[in-house]
Amino acid sequence: MSEEDSSSLKQTIVGKAREGAFNNNPLLSAVHSVTCRGCGHRQRAVFLEFLRSGEFELGKVEQVEALDTQGPTGFVEIQKVTPVVLMFACERCGRRIEAQPVSAEYLNMIISRPRAAGTMIA
Ligand SMILES: [Zn+2]
Repeated sequence: MSEEDSSSLKQTIVGKAREGAFNNNPLLSAVHSVTCRGCGHRQRAVFLEFLRSGEFELGKVEQVEALDTQGPTGFVEIQKVTPVVLMFACERCGRRIEAQPVSAEYLNMIISRPRAAGTMIA
């Protein structure tokens, strides 16, 4: 992915997050507890807030083997995954904490199928 594609993809995600496209997604809208690897401090984070504010980066595209459970016999396919990397500072020690809760492809899927995402159970 070129740098330009990556930044326009990020803008799309931020724009859709602000429009409320991910509001019904339990993974993104719930409060998660994230542990600092430096001091062990646990702090609360709502991933959707990072998507709305644009405080995230798109990581390097990875190719992963995914088991297609929708398919007839559960065959394995290679999928491209662009991790969405959230970065924030630990409240206690200031060390950088990174979380990669979802991929850009997953967010794109929600954007293109908003109704299906609203009824999904995490
Ligand atoms: Zn810490």
